[in-house]
This record gives sequence, C-alpha cells and structure tokens, in this order.
Amino acid sequence: MKLEDILQSDIWNVDEDPHIIVDYNKCKNCPDKPCVYLCPAGCYVLSDNGIVFSYEGCVECGTCRVICPMEAITWNYPKSGKGIFYRFT
Ligand code: SF4
Repeated sequence: MKLEDILQSDIWNVDEDPHIIVDYNKCKNCPDKPCVYLCPAGCYVLSDNGIVFSYEGCVECGTCRVICPMEAITWNYPKSGKGIFYRFT
C-alpha cells in the first residue's frame, strides 16, 4: 500500500487555530527549504512568493520542527480531540 493510500484512510478533526506557526520572515533567508522536500504530508509548498504552509493535513510527525535550519517553526500538538486520527497504527 502506498503512503498516499494510507493517509487517505485517516481522519482529521481540524482545529481552527493552527498548531504550527511558521515565521515566513525567517523562511525568506532559508537557502534550501528542506520542509518542502521532507514533510511527508506535503504541508509546505514552494510558490513564487516563498513557502506556503497548510497545517490542516499535518500528520504530527514533527519532522519540520527538527529539520528547520532557521528555527522558523513554532510547533505544538493540536488541542485534545483535534488533529489526525490514524486508522492504521
Ligand atoms: Fe509536515 Fe510532519 Fe511538520 Fe506536520 S509535523 S507539517 S506532517 S513535517
């Protein structure tokens, strides 16, 4: 089974308040933007204007928190009852 198939079987209860905050001013000076390539859920997309982040599909792996070289990410787990609910564990 492909990762995309597994992710599509999960359920999100999206909070209106993002659990991850990105400091885009710091992103502007990031040369490699590893979040775009390493986020397994594709939450970080590179556009003509820089990084575009969408927290709604986050799988709470913590990768972006660890790999961001600019310390541009404020990361918290979603509130209780919010975020992803895994079908396959
Ligand atoms: Fe992507 Fe994982 Fe960061 Fe969520 S925690 S935005 S899935 S890298």
